[in-house]
Amino acid sequence: MTRLHEVAAGLLVATSRTDALNSVVIIGQDGAALLVDPGWQQDELDDLTAELTARSLTPVAGFATHAHYDHVLWHPDFGEVPRWASPDSVRIAGSHREEILEALGPDFRPEVLSLVGRLSVLPGLDIPWLGPEVGVILHDAHIVGHSALWVAELGVLVTGDMLSDVELPLPDDSPGALGAYRAGLGALAPYASIARFVIPGHGSVTSDGSARVAADLAYLDDLDAGRESTDARLANSGMAEVHAANLRLA
Ligand SMILES: [Zn+2]
Repeated sequence: MTRLHEVAAGLLVATSRTDALNSVVIIGQDGAALLVDPGWQQDELDDLTAELTARSLTPVAGFATHAHYDHVLWHPDFGEVPRWASPDSVRIAGSHREEILEALGPDFRPEVLSLVGRLSVLPGLDIPWLGPEVGVILHDAHIVGHSALWVAELGVLVTGDMLSDVELPLPDDSPGALGAYRAGLGALAPYASIARFVIPGHGSVTSDGSARVAADLAYLDDLDAGRESTDARLANSGMAEVHAANLRLA
């Protein structure tokens, strides 16, 4: 993991060597830290705990943007604090726990695996903590119950597995998934357009959120119209398979 670096005042990001997963740390009062999607590999989680300690930051809450295996990790040293998620994310993380553990594979210590997906339903759409106000934007693109976070004070939008510059849109395989994906982009667009920083779950941070929205809409338009896509992300690892699945869905 590259070390935590400051993206905005009071907001740190560390990027995993695996699929460029971004772990987000939002700093509140008196060294309180809100951890969003901390991951991914065992040594990277270990490094993250060490870095938080070195910076005198104490996790007081977590948030999982959605119920996929790379977004529901935790480390014992982060402590027993509430790990919030949407109602659907909590439900899916519970009902699919075996699949999630299988997807993570054998490279995690048992005490870390025992904490995977242990989420609590966020009451309402604001994370209760002593820090900048963090609002949840709920939608069903990528997976039902997906949540983005809007930190108005910092002008930061944390998007989970949306608005990536390395991954194509990844709708789930339900019949209405492409429509749900457009609806999700519609929910994010107003925030993306004013965000100073958009932090995707995978890939690089951008100050041009509208360009990310436009790229995803153009990709979906090509799918719907049966046109060949010229999206540069097609060349990235694993994206040919994603594109083939998206063509079947369309
Ligand atoms: Zn992911």
